[in-house]
Amino acid sequence: MRLDILGVGFDPITLPDAVTAGMALAGSEGFHYVVTPNPEIVLLADRDEHFRSILYHADLVLADGVGVIHAANILGTPLPGRVTGIDFAAGLMQEMARTGEKKLFLLGAKPGVAAEAGRRLQKTYPGLNVCGTRDGYFKDAESEAVAAQVAQSGADVLFVCLGAPKQEKWLAQYGKACGVHLAAGLGGVLDVFAGNVDRAPAAFQKAGMEWFYRLVKQPSRIGRMAKLPGFLGKAVAARVKRGKS
Ligand code: UDP
Repeated sequence: MRLDILGVGFDPITLPDAVTAGMALAGSEGFHYVVTPNPEIVLLADRDEHFRSILYHADLVLADGVGVIHAANILGTPLPGRVTGIDFAAGLMQEMARTGEKKLFLLGAKPGVAAEAGRRLQKTYPGLNVCGTRDGYFKDAESEAVAAQVAQSGADVLFVCLGAPKQEKWLAQYGKACGVHLAAGLGGVLDVFAGNVDRAPAAFQKAGMEWFYRLVKQPSRIGRMAKLPGFLGKAVAARVKRGKS
């Protein structure tokens, strides 16, 4: 059963279980998608019903960000831990490389980034089949052609990295036409895989301070991160309200 964190239901799942579930979806009939909401996305969903419904209908909803874990604790419905989009993607690619069965398409980021990410990932995960890449700066009118390109590649799995909520809305509209069995909206991960943006060192990740590292590296994110205290405040208010009722 999903745990409600300020209006978004999260799967109480660990990283290894999420990867296993993802691989099972990639190998099953039909179209499935995964979302990885962070606090900013939860706040966005509160104001955007269409977006909220897309998150609700996802096959897996993973808690990307320590803020979601804090909020879950405050609400008294703890989640087993953070499952970041990038760790989920890495776990899937490791499995895809090991089994050598599934093909991956990378969609998103600035021109050249997805292709470079694809080259690097195939070295990192020998046996991984990256069957196509495309940048994320296409016009709305080109979306059908983009979906057709993914379908023609024969991909089983698609990483869509256009930022939220654009990537989730794009997936809801065009995901099926891509012909993949599993798609995941993964924000800025292609920039990391291409080597353009550093991921925080392991010590920061373990301490739940990855956000701080990203802030120091990309100070322009301060406006986005300033929403976190408000998010946790909402969790406290919801807990107090629930306690009274
Ligand atoms: N992006 C894109 N098309 C767009 C807007 C953004 O491909 O129209 C890409 C952008 O280049 C970046 C990613 O989407 O690679 C969003 O990164 P961000 O760090 O904002 O995502 P987050 O992980 O914070 O959701």
